[in-house]
Amino acid sequence: MKVPFLDLSVQYYELQKDIDTAMREASESGWYILGKRCENFEREFKAYLVREQEGYVVGCNSGTDALVLALRAAGIGPGDEVITVANTAIPTITAICSIGAVPVFCEIAEDTWLMDPDHILPLISSKTKAVLPVHLYGNVAQMTEIGRVAKEHGLKVIEDVAQACGARWDGHQAGTVGDFGAFSFYPSKNLGAMGDGGAVFCRSQKDYETLVMLRNYGQKDRYNASLAMGINSRLDEIQAAVLSVKLKYMDKWNKRKGEVVEKYRNLLQRTRAPLLLQEIYDAAEPAWHLMAVRLAAGAGLSRSEFIEFMDSRGIQVLIHYPYPAYRQAAFKEYFRSELPETRAHCESVVSFPLGHYLKDEAIEVVCSSTTESLCR
Ligand SMILES: *Cc1c(COP(=O)(O)O)cnc(C)c1O
Repeated sequence: MKVPFLDLSVQYYELQKDIDTAMREASESGWYILGKRCENFEREFKAYLVREQEGYVVGCNSGTDALVLALRAAGIGPGDEVITVANTAIPTITAICSIGAVPVFCEIAEDTWLMDPDHILPLISSKTKAVLPVHLYGNVAQMTEIGRVAKEHGLKVIEDVAQACGARWDGHQAGTVGDFGAFSFYPSKNLGAMGDGGAVFCRSQKDYETLVMLRNYGQKDRYNASLAMGINSRLDEIQAAVLSVKLKYMDKWNKRKGEVVEKYRNLLQRTRAPLLLQEIYDAAEPAWHLMAVRLAAGAGLSRSEFIEFMDSRGIQVLIHYPYPAYRQAAFKEYFRSELPETRAHCESVVSFPLGHYLKDEAIEVVCSSTTESLCR
C-alpha cells in the first residue's frame, strides 16, 4: 500500500464544479487584480476569524509577504530586533531579514516544540521591537504568556499563523490574538490556494490603511505614493475566488485531519514505539497542518535509516525542518548560541502523511511500519 505524503488534487476533485465555475467567472470578468473577488474573500475571511466590528483582513500574494507587510506596518525596519524561533520554515526568517531587521532566536519548550515564553526576557534589548511566535504544525504557541512579556516591554506581537489557519487560543482564532497575524494560502496549507496567496489580520484601522497601501506600491490614491516602502503583493482574483470556495470546507477538513492525528497519536502511544508526541497547551485547539513526531533517544536506528525504511514500504516521510535557522548559511551572522532544545528537535523530527482524505487503513499501515522499524 502506497501512502504519499500529500495529494493536493483531492481537494480540487472534491470541489471541481465550484472551483471551475469560480475560476471561469473570474477569468470572464476581465478584472484580475484588486477586484471584488479579493474584497469578498477578505470580508468572508474576516467574518470567519472575528466578530463583526473587530479587526481587518488584507489579502496579499503569499505568507512570506504577509509577514513582511505585518513587520513593516508594525514600524519595524533596519537594525530592529525581532524575537522568533529557529525551528521554523525558512520564510519566517527571510521575511525578517528582507526588511533589514535582525532575527533573535528564542529557545523552544521541550514538550510543545513552540516558542518558550520563559526564554524571551533575556533576549530583549533596546533594539527589540516585536515577538514573532510560530504556530508550528498547526499547534498554538503560549500566546497568553508571550502577550504578557510583550506588553510589559512595549513589543508588538506578530503571529506566524501560516501553518495553523483555523486553530484557536483560549477560544480566539489563532492569528487574531496578537497585533498582527500572517496567514499563508500556499497550496498545502490548511486553506490552500491553487497558486500563491496570503493575508494579514490586524486590529487597528490605522494598521489596516497602512497595509492596504504597502501591498500596492505604497500608494493610497492612484499614481500618488504615500509610503516609500510599498511592494507589489496582491491576492489575485482567481486565487481569491478559489479561496472563497475552499473556506467553506476548511473547518470540515481541519476536523477530519484532527481525527486522523488523534488516531495516529493513539496507535503510536499504544505500540510504545520510541517516539515523542507534541504536547498541546490547555488553551490551544490545534488545526493540524502536519503530523510531526520525534524519534526518541532509544530508537534503534537513525532518522535517515527510518525514513529509508518507510520509503521502502511506500510511505513518504518528510522532515520539517532539518536545520535550525541559525545553522543555515544565510543566517549565520545571527547566530548567538546553540539552543539545545531547538537543535534536539531539528535532529529528531519527522512528519507522517496527513490529509483529510486519509483512510484508517493507511494510518494503521504507517503506524505498524513505524513500530516494525523502531522496535527491533
Ligand atoms: C508556509 C509558511 C510561510 C510562508 O508562506 P508562503 O505562502 O509560502 O510564502 C511562513 N511561515 C511558515 C511557518 C510557513 O509554514
